[in-house]
Amino acid sequence: MRFETIAIHAGDRPDATTGAISVPIYQTATFVFEDVGKTRGWDYSRTANPTRKVLEDTIARLEGGKAGFAFATGMAAETTLMHLLRTGDHVISMDDIYGGTYTLFQSVMSTFGLEFTLLRMDDRQRIEEAIKPNTRMLWLETLSNPLLNTIDLEMVVDIAKKHRLLIVADNTFATPYFLRPIEYGVDLVVHSTSKYLNGHCDVVGGAVVTATDELTQRVQFLLDAMGTCASPFDCWLVLRGIETLPVRMKQHEKNAIAVARYLEEHPSVKRVLYPGLESHRGHGIARSQMKGFGGVVSFELEGGFERVNTFLRNVRVFSLAESLGGLASLAGHPATMSHVSVPRDHREKVGISDGLIRLSVGLENVDDLTEDLEQALKTTV
Ligand SMILES: *Cc1c(COP(=O)(O)O)cnc(C)c1O
Repeated sequence: MRFETIAIHAGDRPDATTGAISVPIYQTATFVFEDVGKTRGWDYSRTANPTRKVLEDTIARLEGGKAGFAFATGMAAETTLMHLLRTGDHVISMDDIYGGTYTLFQSVMSTFGLEFTLLRMDDRQRIEEAIKPNTRMLWLETLSNPLLNTIDLEMVVDIAKKHRLLIVADNTFATPYFLRPIEYGVDLVVHSTSKYLNGHCDVVGGAVVTATDELTQRVQFLLDAMGTCASPFDCWLVLRGIETLPVRMKQHEKNAIAVARYLEEHPSVKRVLYPGLESHRGHGIARSQMKGFGGVVSFELEGGFERVNTFLRNVRVFSLAESLGGLASLAGHPATMSHVSVPRDHREKVGISDGLIRLSVGLENVDDLTEDLEQALKTTV
């Protein structure tokens, strides 16, 4: 089966028990045993739930992995993966990762004795020089948030194999429709399903896909032991979203390219960050390893915070809000929103300036989007 078909048919669909074409929401905590020591395949919903299982099987197949796991949030998925490590272990990651991941690393896991080095992962030598005897994991974002940096998966996977490191890829921005990191040798894929996989901004959720049986067992154990799983209803919502992932991603990308090209021509715009633009430093890698460039466009306004404020007050189709990947277009200000927990000097060092705006380009008519940007940009001059 091909991607679009898997998105609609993977897992136990139609429901084997009833024939329901829409996956039933098994809203139950517990399952009655057939006999002492004998279940019907299910015992307690923290361990496994039939609605969750359909979602997990679907995501696993879309990513081309062994098994999938659904979590309460993207951060619950990440927190669970951190527990593959133990005190004293060292992790190498990117210096412009998602703000929540930055906080998890620097303010939570480091207090449990994990060590983190954050760097630009575009240079083999820089990464290899950061590897220490206690390094266990490389953690990367396939398209970084909010700068849309790309990563050469062949290069980082080669480093990870050579030094026997686990390699985790946050594939939230790219989605498996555009990039499948496990095909490159990545061990674990993590998602915030709150974004494109669900796609409707009506749920928070997370997912992990494993590449080996050993990791499958470990993650299943941790999910159950830590209780970080998603609820049946939330799983159902994400499943419903995934059914239209391919058509949504195609249109998100089409609109994003038009918006990026429009902004690139605008005199009030200092720079546009979108991997589909020839001017983006990650364009070559994105071209060679991705099937498309995604729906997020970041850009910097000439002139700093006041102008950004004016612009964000005046957009009408775009809404000023956290998150991305939904049908409705959103505009975010990383310095005061998604990346507010990242210290200012670190933000400035990596290029998350006060003038940076991140657009999640939605599925409205693209002319309404560019006209909205046009009128809001006019107010800033
Ligand atoms: C949103 C996001 C997360 C966190 O996911 P939640 O569902 O909000 O907990 C992690 N990684 C990336 C890249 C994200 O955009």
